[in-house]
Amino acid sequence: MFLEVKGLDVFYGTMQALWDVSLAVDSGEIVALLGANGAGKTTLLRTISNLISPAKGKILLRDQDLTGIPAHRIVSLGVSHVPEGRRVFAGSTVKINLEMGAYPRRREKDLARRLESCLKMFPVLRERLDQSAGTLSGGEQQMLAIARGIINEPKLILLDEPSLGLAPLVVKSMFEIVSSIQRQGIAVLIVEQNAVRALEIADRAYVLQNGRIVLSGKASALLAEPEIKKAYLGL
Ligand code: ATP
Repeated sequence: MFLEVKGLDVFYGTMQALWDVSLAVDSGEIVALLGANGAGKTTLLRTISNLISPAKGKILLRDQDLTGIPAHRIVSLGVSHVPEGRRVFAGSTVKINLEMGAYPRRREKDLARRLESCLKMFPVLRERLDQSAGTLSGGEQQMLAIARGIINEPKLILLDEPSLGLAPLVVKSMFEIVSSIQRQGIAVLIVEQNAVRALEIADRAYVLQNGRIVLSGKASALLAEPEIKKAYLGL
């Protein structure tokens, strides 16, 4: 497995948000992380990126223990995190947003080539390169946020609710983009409220409920189980 999360307990002060959470993502896989509001999905992604330290448990990246490695170094180990809410720098151009996304030590090296390969994946951003990011539509801003993660050529990208607040047609193209990221050989761990669409593109999925993994398996199997859909996916 590329990423292995083992037995995580995470607290905010005295409140426990995650209980004994284990999860894995293999190279090139799309794994969906589903669950209701407040289930702990964002907390899990933030813990993988080492923005939060777990009270217990381990995170292994290709068998390397990430304990104590600062968040900014996780990027250089091949994990990009695209947080919820597409936080682009609205007053800066698309190009500057992309360049700022590049991991500092690698900013100079290869930047032109990496920018070009990003723009191939997101042609709409090429047309908008010199426009300020604040003038982009919601969908374009989300693409920019994802492209900023891709520019570091990760092996795994963590996507937190990429379809949130987007119009239905744009949601469809967002999921197509996630599939195209996988075709580039990048593994994806995607948090989504849109469970059905996420399961349609994912290889496997986990369901979080009140901070615990209550279900996991092949995405196609989860999609086909009426009881599971009713109990865990709110369908
Ligand atoms: P959502 O879809 O609403 O973002 P989520 O599944 O991502 O939900 P989290 O945001 O991880 O859930 O929240 C898990 C629990 O931790 C919730 O009870 C939430 O209120 C709590 N929580 C999240 N962030 C903090 C924080 N910074 N301080 C204290 N409690 C927090």
